[in-house]
This record gives sequence, C-alpha cells and structure tokens, in this order.
Amino acid sequence: MVTPLLREIRPGAYDRLLAVVIDPMSYGRVYLLGDAAHIVPPMSAKGIHLALHDAEVLARAVIDHIHRDDSTLLGEYSAFRRQIARAELERQSSSRAAGKLFGELLAGIN
Ligand SMILES: Cc1cc2nc3c(=O)[nH]c(=O)nc-3n(C[C@H](O)[C@H](O)[C@H](O)COP(=O)(O)OP(=O)(O)OC[C@H]3O[C@@H](n4cnc5c(N)ncnc54)[C@H](O)[C@@H]3O)c2cc1C
Repeated sequence: MVTPLLREIRPGAYDRLLAVVIDPMSYGRVYLLGDAAHIVPPMSAKGIHLALHDAEVLARAVIDHIHRDDSTLLGEYSAFRRQIARAELERQSSSRAAGKLFGELLAGIN
C-alpha cells in the first residue's frame, strides 16, 4: 500500500529508504564493507561513518592476520559489524530527529 504511494509521490524515494543488513558479511576470503554489507536510510547520516569503520576494523584484522598470524579479528568481523549496523538501524527507528526527517522526506520538503 505505502510503496506504490511513495513511488507516485516522489519517484525513487522508496529505493533510498532501504534498510538492509547482510548476514553473514563474509564468505571465505570475501568480506563485505559499506553499502555492500548494510544500507541504512539516509535520515541517520551514518552510511559513510559505518563504511569507514568497517574499513578500519577490517584493515586491523588483515594486519593481525598477516603480521601476527592471528585470525581472531577476521573471524569476528562479520558478527561484530552486523551487530553495529543493526544497532544503528534500531537507534534510527527510535530517534525523534530521524522520525522528523522521515516525515519531511515523505512530505517532499526535505
Ligand atoms: C540520498 C542519500 C543521502 C545520504 N546521506 C548521507 C549522509 O548525510 N551521511 C552519510 O554518512 N551517509 C549518507 N548516505 C549514505 C552514503 O552515501 C553511503 O552509505 C556510502 O556512500 C557508502 O559507501 P560505499 O563506499 O560502501 O559505497 P558507494 O559510495 O556507493 O561506492 C561504491 C562505488 O563503487 C562503484 N562501483 C559500483 N559497481 C562497480 C563496478 N562493477 N566496478 C567498479 N566500480 C563500481 C560505484 O560507482 C561507487 O563509486 C546517503 C545516501 C543517500 C542515497
């Protein structure tokens, strides 16, 4: 019901409101970062923040793996980052500021 309405009111708006957390975020030696791993609606302005933190966490994990022969952080990457991304989505759904922005977006004034 809401989806066709959104498309009609503002073409493309629905696609920009995706909320997705991929599970798992790694498979073998493939690790997902940024929007490939999680998409948070733009009202929280956290997409780049999450992406950069993914990169930092994964870089530290790779350094540990290569220089210390320690794969602990690599093994924990997916569960750890999934937990952070889900927490961000939950924070957004309970945030008054994000709710206000969401309303403005639907109304076409933001
Ligand atoms: C309307 C809107 C507003 C937003 N506002 C904010 C905000 O205020 N603050 C915030 O933090 N985040 C915001 N975001 C989210 C933020 O833009 C993303 O979370 C962030 O850009 C994700 O970074 P990324 O590197 O994972 O992906 P991207 O920035 O999408 O980078 C992926 C890159 O890969 C390239 N690419 C894709 N396919 C291929 C291919 N096959 N070969 C080579 N290159 C390829 C793309 O061209 C792109 O340059 C907003 C998003 C939207 C849609």
